[in-house]
Amino acid sequence: MTMNVHAETIAAIATAAGAGGVGIIRLSGSAAPAMARTLLGRSPRPRHAHYCTFTEKDGSVLDRGLIIHFPAPHSFTGEDVVELQAHGSPVILRCLLARVIELGARQARPGEFSERAFLNGKIDLVQAEAIADLIASGSQAAARAAVRSLDGEFSARVRALAEAVVRLRVWIEAAIDFPEEEIDFLATPQLLEDLVATCDRLDDLLAASRRGVRLADGLHVVIVGRPNAGKSSLLNALAASDRAIVTDLPGTTRDLLRETIDLDGIGMTLVDTAGLRDSLDVVEIEGMRRARDELARADLAVLVSTDAQLERDLPLLADLPATTTRLIVHNKIDLAGSAPRQAEIDGLAHIWLSARSGAGLDLLMAALRKAAGYTEDNQGAFSARTRHVDAIERARQHLHAALRALREQRAGELAAEELRQVQHALGEITGTFSSEDLLGRIFADFCIG
Ligand code: GDP
Repeated sequence: MTMNVHAETIAAIATAAGAGGVGIIRLSGSAAPAMARTLLGRSPRPRHAHYCTFTEKDGSVLDRGLIIHFPAPHSFTGEDVVELQAHGSPVILRCLLARVIELGARQARPGEFSERAFLNGKIDLVQAEAIADLIASGSQAAARAAVRSLDGEFSARVRALAEAVVRLRVWIEAAIDFPEEEIDFLATPQLLEDLVATCDRLDDLLAASRRGVRLADGLHVVIVGRPNAGKSSLLNALAASDRAIVTDLPGTTRDLLRETIDLDGIGMTLVDTAGLRDSLDVVEIEGMRRARDELARADLAVLVSTDAQLERDLPLLADLPATTTRLIVHNKIDLAGSAPRQAEIDGLAHIWLSARSGAGLDLLMAALRKAAGYTEDNQGAFSARTRHVDAIERARQHLHAALRALREQRAGELAAEELRQVQHALGEITGTFSSEDLLGRIFADFCIG
């Protein structure tokens, strides 16, 4: 991509720490070095920290700090970048910003630095989004995942897949172009094997991206069960962990939603399913509507029950959307004197625990963390967005269509066209193919950067 050296110089307060902390004004654009020269009184050496007295136009002193010049193209945006480090007081930073605006800069829009970095080929779209996700990350795990995306781990996997798709397309197109060849290239088992292997890799990427979205967005867990099952006790036991933040949700006295906790990025809402099925009371109907909305939005529904009542309670999960993961908690094991354990029965995860004694809570926590996308020490987790998941799903549909076209009809042209669509969908993720509309939406979402 070409360098945009004539870009108008933009300025932004990058960091505004409290009084005594450091505040940074960043400039990006071709006029930035001249502005640095005016402030410093001479040309700054590249990547060298110069001690500088920042002055107003009339010579009065604003602050003393550092000036660093990162010449194009070796900077974050790929343009000339100048950083002014001053004291972190908001007043000083505003004055300094006004000073550089007076020198010809204009205040950057949210996300404009990242946008320029993208347009100048310094980062791809996934990395730009990872910057926004890093700034907004609500948990340490989410922050680490965003850093991995920023480092390009996600992009590298998308690119590798796109390259594999291109190789397949070239193969198929060559076979179409030379139909008189004696060997039918479209019928070679290797081609189908490679296609199937690519499908598997795409499935892995899809699963990893879904985990990445959950990591970035936080997992929405809803705890359901009949009155007295022990839902509040369970939530309180989880909230007792020092990683939980407890918030009370306002509502009517008979509101079915009671409270929400945030457990290291996992948001949990309690839904009492009392009367979830058959009430005529207006307030209760409203509560039920909210409960159902809450359930419909859940990534994971935890049904709290007991061994004796499970059969009666299972229908409480019946109305959930197919995509919602379900987990069954058999509470009150202390009454029976049994030990905590977990098992998978008919594809459903079951955990036996006691909310009162705390036995088995660690099993539940591990299951929640797994559902939230946390892996053991979070190796390989990266942040992702719904936009990425949608694109990968689209790519997957086209890839399967290509496979069908070849396997069932030996329709090379159709398969090649489907593969082109796969390539396009994958390219949308990293920004190889992108519309102005999409870029506008992505960068407008930045709060800073
Ligand atoms: P909720 O209506 O589902 O929120 O249920 P609560 O959390 O209010 O619990 C109902 C009753 O069951 C309370 O008296 C709790 O002390 C009790 N309870 C909850 N969990 C346990 C448990 O693990 N063991 C025992 N023995 N009692 C429990």
